[in-house]
Amino acid sequence: MRLCSVSVDLDEIACYSAIHGLQAVAECHAVYDLALARMRAFAASLGLPLTLFVIARDLDREQNVHWLRQAISDGHEIGNHSLDHRYDLTRRAPSEQTQQVVQASDRIQAVLGVRPQGFRAPGYTMNDHLMALLREAGFSYDSSVFPCPAYYAAKAAVLLRMRFGGQSSNSILDSPDVLRAPRVPYRTGKPYWAPGKGLLELPIQVAGPLRLPFIGTSLTLLGPSGARLLTRWLLGVPFVNLELHGIDFLEASDVPKPLLAVQPDLRVPLRRKLAALSAALETLRAHGYSMLRLDEAAHTIARGLA
Ligand SMILES: [Zn+2]
Repeated sequence: MRLCSVSVDLDEIACYSAIHGLQAVAECHAVYDLALARMRAFAASLGLPLTLFVIARDLDREQNVHWLRQAISDGHEIGNHSLDHRYDLTRRAPSEQTQQVVQASDRIQAVLGVRPQGFRAPGYTMNDHLMALLREAGFSYDSSVFPCPAYYAAKAAVLLRMRFGGQSSNSILDSPDVLRAPRVPYRTGKPYWAPGKGLLELPIQVAGPLRLPFIGTSLTLLGPSGARLLTRWLLGVPFVNLELHGIDFLEASDVPKPLLAVQPDLRVPLRRKLAALSAALETLRAHGYSMLRLDEAAHTIARGLA
């Protein structure tokens, strides 16, 4: 089996302003108004089905609904990225966690006519309660676990720097136990990062012995030759789960200036970003990987694990 899924978290610019404490940039809608059309064109050019993780509050904006309906008619999957993208979701009351997950699915189904089969937690932060809740709510899979030491260390450093600088961030640090999770699909146990008989988890991809992040941010910062090299470290794994963000399809002129200082990947020209993503995907294709949506991958993998 050689399968690859590409998913995109449609975090709007407001989400980044919340992480970095930049309230001034909250009114920019570049992810829905610019990035979504670009990712659809990119996917069409490569014959690539996508899974789009939607924050349900973004459906309040009529234009966003219009773009998402077009994406659905292209054949892309819609996943659940919670109702409001609260970075501290796992620290909220159990009833609020349920509301954030179930109301998001209900709203997506009511507005877009499709019920999400998969969930991705805001900020990749998961815990046992949230995982159990997803299973009870009838999800086919979760894809939130990111067992990546480099990402964990970078996030810890940013949050620490902000705290010492007197800035507040909406983001939180997960327990380092997540780094003990398998790097391949598994049925979750208790704790969720140990294998068991629960919900199917499709971890975010890491590559090589150092478990480097194989995600849009790292590929676009590496550029085409670096992306190709990192992809070579993955060849042979049965399933590649490449996670992107809407901003991987944006460049400096698309976003408010203050964001460029804190999201260096936004300074990479769009053309170079797309070339890097293409290089990774073409390398996988050349080595026999077929591209499919996460719900389809989950179905195939679940049969293999049963
Ligand atoms: Zn997100």
